[in-house]
Amino acid sequence: MKSWFLKIFHSLTDFVFPRRCVVCQHVLSETEQFVCNGCYVNLPFVPDFGKPGNPIEKLFWSYHIVRAGSMLVFQSGNATQQIVHTIKYHNHPDAGIFFGRIMAQRLEGEDFFNGIDAILPLPLSETRLRSRGYNQSEMLAQGISDVTGLPVLADAVKRVIDNPTQTHLSSIQRRDNVRDIFEVTHPEQLTGRHLLLVDDVITTGASLRSLLESLSQYPDIHCSILSLSVAGKHHAIPTKEE
Ligand SMILES: [Zn+2]
Repeated sequence: MKSWFLKIFHSLTDFVFPRRCVVCQHVLSETEQFVCNGCYVNLPFVPDFGKPGNPIEKLFWSYHIVRAGSMLVFQSGNATQQIVHTIKYHNHPDAGIFFGRIMAQRLEGEDFFNGIDAILPLPLSETRLRSRGYNQSEMLAQGISDVTGLPVLADAVKRVIDNPTQTHLSSIQRRDNVRDIFEVTHPEQLTGRHLLLVDDVITTGASLRSLLESLSQYPDIHCSILSLSVAGKHHAIPTKEE
């Protein structure tokens, strides 16, 4: 289709169904995507995102990860939650790709991607994937790939257990609950490589730990972690001055 035609088509659909900011609901300008500029600058960005020694690295230190980072602080009712819900529950795989690109762009100049060979998005179970239609972590991975050129490994690992809701479990039960929820289906794609594990939200970190444990059974795999957001209890909310 010709670009002028697409432009007119998009302005018409914008006129009939205006695109709105997922945080404040104001109508977006032609150049804004998903979040208006006013809300974007006020997002709760993690100040030491991807920097050595940040709290996300400490959360997974016992697994000998190379590096880790989360871009936004997640709290009930905050802007991050609205973004994550848009990506996950409102049928917006394109928002996942968009925020994946933002993460990668904000890490440029941090040496964060140095030495990484491929991106491994946290897999969804087949049932979840069927009902949602896409894996939100894979969409984030796609956005990161657009900026870095790193390949995305979408079928090297399978999620075999859709872990049930964990809210009523003790921490020990919770640990058992996520053990062996992943199955490595194509180890040949992973061995000898430095993988970037990508997730949308780190709450307890249990799913990522389970994946790290499954991967540790194979030789010569190094892992780093990148997530769109992290629960506020793991990371102080940035203040306006930061
Ligand atoms: Zn807004």
